Amino acid sequence: MSGFVFSEKPISIASGDGVYLTSESGDQYLDAGASYACTPTGHCHPSVVEAVQEQAGQLLYVQGSYPVAARTDLHTRLAALAPGDLENVWLCNSGTEANEAAFKFARSATGGRKIVAAKRAFHGRTAGTLSATWKPKYKKPFEPLLEDVEFVTYGDSEELAAAVDDDTAALILEPIQGEGGIHPAPEGYLESAREVTEETNTALVFDEIQTGLGRTGATWACQHEAVAGAGVTPDILTTAKGVASGLPLGATLCADWIADDAGPHGSTFSGNPVVCAAANATIDVLVDEDLAGNAAEVGAYLRTELEESEIPLRDVRGEGLMVGLEVKRGANRVLRDLALEHQILALPAGRTVVRLLPPLVLEREHADDLVAALSDILAPKAES
Ligand SMILES: *Cc1c(COP(=O)(O)O)cnc(C)c1O
Repeated sequence: MSGFVFSEKPISIASGDGVYLTSESGDQYLDAGASYACTPTGHCHPSVVEAVQEQAGQLLYVQGSYPVAARTDLHTRLAALAPGDLENVWLCNSGTEANEAAFKFARSATGGRKIVAAKRAFHGRTAGTLSATWKPKYKKPFEPLLEDVEFVTYGDSEELAAAVDDDTAALILEPIQGEGGIHPAPEGYLESAREVTEETNTALVFDEIQTGLGRTGATWACQHEAVAGAGVTPDILTTAKGVASGLPLGATLCADWIADDAGPHGSTFSGNPVVCAAANATIDVLVDEDLAGNAAEVGAYLRTELEESEIPLRDVRGEGLMVGLEVKRGANRVLRDLALEHQILALPAGRTVVRLLPPLVLEREHADDLVAALSDILAPKAES
């Protein structure tokens, strides 16, 4: 047996450029989300490629306790972008690890044990983070996991207030639930999460692994007016996915009171110089090319075009270039038709939701191609 766990798609990918991927057989595909939000700057952005090549020629690795410029620069960049005072940066190699660290830091700093998470949540697949992930199918074969985890209905502030108490270490929420079907927090929900965690000395953790760094049209979804009103600053914010344009990097950003009492933690590859160089270049492109602004503009255009089209969609949800389309027939059939008939790669988010997480350099004409393809697959055909 060769590879396992992943079910392989029938298209081998040879190269990528901007919003497109090219297969071994030379076909070009519009990457509208197939890479799970990991390519915000587009595939092989020249600045990112150059930064990686330069750093690789200089130093591939040194243990995290020796300062190196690429890592120090990344700390500075992330601290500058962080909401509020979340200027203490822990680097790791994935989203899962960023959340795992968040749970450890929260338990250490608060002395509490319990973790409160939301139904439909996805926070990762290590034993700790899997415990706070909702889907039973992902968890059953591996139980028992952490015991002190309580799930609440996403969006229900009263349930939150009842679940979070003085023994709660962390309340973890996605400002827009991703894997769970693209569900933005309803108005006032993140504010009420902030209130109840302050009252109980609980660490409020926002998982911005999918929503962070411009995806929703703001640098962080928790600062997006449409998602969190005037903005809510958590005590810990985690990010990963696109932060290094697809190289493995996760980050846990913490307020002082968490960092001051975070407990012992470590990881051999934490802050690898090559990965940090990719992240520095990615962040510079995000800022210099205002990719959050582009995500807001092209995302709004895409959603409006979809809503005004003849395509029979049950719902169009999301912000910026994080879009979920609730379809009437199974999402997987739509995804297959998009790939095989229109050379567009997208993702599911549950059985009935087609999820779009394209590179943030997406242009209106690409959005038009997407709408035309969905229309061809889903809209009722006119009698001829
Ligand atoms: C993808 C994702 C994770 C897990 O990240 P990995 O890098 O796959 O470990 C956690 N939380 C959210 C919201 C995600 O989208």
